[in-house]
Amino acid sequence: MFDWLGSTVHGLQQWLYETAVQPLLFALGWMRYAEELFDFTEWVVLGAIEVVVLAVLLGVAERLWPAEPVTDRRAIRTDVLYTLLHRLGGFALVVFALLTPLLDELEGALRLVGFSRINVDQLWPGVTDLPVVSFAIYLVLFDFVDYWLHRWQHRFGWWWALHAVHHSQRQMTFWSDQRNHLIDDLIRDAAMALVAVALGASPGQFVALVIASRVLQSVQHANLRWRWPGPLEGVLVSPSWHRLHHAIGYGHEGRTQGVNFAVLFPIWDVLFGTADWRPGFVPTGIRDQLEGRDYGRGFWSQQSKAIGRWFGRA
Ligand SMILES: [Zn+2]
Ligand SMILES: [Zn+2]
Repeated sequence: MFDWLGSTVHGLQQWLYETAVQPLLFALGWMRYAEELFDFTEWVVLGAIEVVVLAVLLGVAERLWPAEPVTDRRAIRTDVLYTLLHRLGGFALVVFALLTPLLDELEGALRLVGFSRINVDQLWPGVTDLPVVSFAIYLVLFDFVDYWLHRWQHRFGWWWALHAVHHSQRQMTFWSDQRNHLIDDLIRDAAMALVAVALGASPGQFVALVIASRVLQSVQHANLRWRWPGPLEGVLVSPSWHRLHHAIGYGHEGRTQGVNFAVLFPIWDVLFGTADWRPGFVPTGIRDQLEGRDYGRGFWSQQSKAIGRWFGRA
């Protein structure tokens, strides 16, 4: 199955590169970027497959088991735009173009000062170097970092100004995962890439980790009244559990400025006292939206209003 998927992705990558990317590079005289752009084409192909599969499966599921009725289609269309931009378009390219050379430099610099990566897969030879074990360890370590980044997104005023773009969606669907401020996305993507370098994840593992994590995050944002069966609900973040993180009166309130911050595994919220298991569905959004605060409807107004909030002007 994975071999088949791998060769399909590779075939599509080759085709897209030869029919669209290479002629463009040639016309622009940018053939020196050929190798980077070939790698980038793989991201686009994986992103496209991911978006199509999720749109079909979660689109059907949201019709069958919605957590709340759909009343604002325009708000959903904005989130679709965020998703396409992040998975297939310009933003992915910017991150790729900025991060790849930066990480190479950093690796070189670290080697010079004698820092050796923590090669997680070498901790217990014979066990931790099994692909599935090392993948699981990386996923848990990544998720621990993600939990704390998310806590800080709520804790620091400037960061909340950006993260509020994500929370201001009152019509949540599986498209909402990507509704983020671009600077916010850049910070988180850079942080995760740095963690991957520090822990010694290979580029192939990094791609698999990012894709596994973002597929699960799309599921959690879906407009679904799903809770996982039995003990699984305590192990993996479900749509209803993450919906509580977005709920008005829960998501950005109290001493910890919110509940249920975990990105994949609720264990972090349990350990650090931020888990909330109350059942039921509460409308999503930010409390001051009820008093009329405007976080913007379209892409540009959401992006620019966040900068305004950051500098105390909105
Ligand atoms: Zn949040
Ligand atoms: Zn969310």
